[in-house]
Amino acid sequence: MSVKILDYYIYSETKMELIEYLRDIKHKVHIVSGNPEVLYSGLSNLELKENFKSEEAVIIPDGIGTVLSAKILGTPVQEKIAGIEVMEEIIKFCEDESKPIYLLGAKQEILDKCISNLKMKHPRLEIVGSHNGYFNIDECETIIKDIEVKMPYCIFVAMGAPRQEIFITKYMHWLPCTIFMGVGGSFDVISGNSKRAPKWMIKIGIEWLYRVLKEPWRLKRLSSIPKFIYIAVLNRNN
Ligand code: UDP
Repeated sequence: MSVKILDYYIYSETKMELIEYLRDIKHKVHIVSGNPEVLYSGLSNLELKENFKSEEAVIIPDGIGTVLSAKILGTPVQEKIAGIEVMEEIIKFCEDESKPIYLLGAKQEILDKCISNLKMKHPRLEIVGSHNGYFNIDECETIIKDIEVKMPYCIFVAMGAPRQEIFITKYMHWLPCTIFMGVGGSFDVISGNSKRAPKWMIKIGIEWLYRVLKEPWRLKRLSSIPKFIYIAVLNRNN
């Protein structure tokens, strides 16, 4: 069900198998989009590291660096799993099973557009609450209270990495939700403000190239891919 890279257990089955597992889950779960950048932040932050290594975390291989590391280590994952696609599947079963969701993150106008697009596509989906992603994580009692009162089954946190993972790690044991998922720039995509790479690029594993071409400042962040693979291979027997 998982492969070990560094100290992490990376989910190694298919996306749809993950969705089946999530449908029946009886305990809290933190779905982590396991790209090298996120996993890196877990190496230097003790709370994140503990959370990522706990049984409550499901780290999906969302990034070519993670997929390649698994392959080089001789324990390939079945497929690369994109966080936004997992989010879409969770939304589908939440709509079908009347499980309420909460959206936390992005700029207010993006969030509003994301909500109206979701409502259009999923008319029976219960979005019980939302808040933009610009607040102090250590002083956000009003937001925490709001989530507590609305009792969503699932909360999607779109505040970029590692901010979203820090928020989830800090509050997941307090909040009454079952599924916690950091979804990066997904609200921007759902709102129509930004686009995913064309399907052919996703298929051959160069979605990162599309993002760098669109947002050149991401180039610096890409250096985490070879670094992560190097460290993973170096520590292969630990
Ligand atoms: N964001 C936020 N609060 C912040 C910083 C960022 O809500 O303090 C939002 C930002 O508006 C954008 C998302 O987080 O919607 C970041 O997306 P990005 O593409 O950088 O995330 P990635 O997928 O690369 O982790």
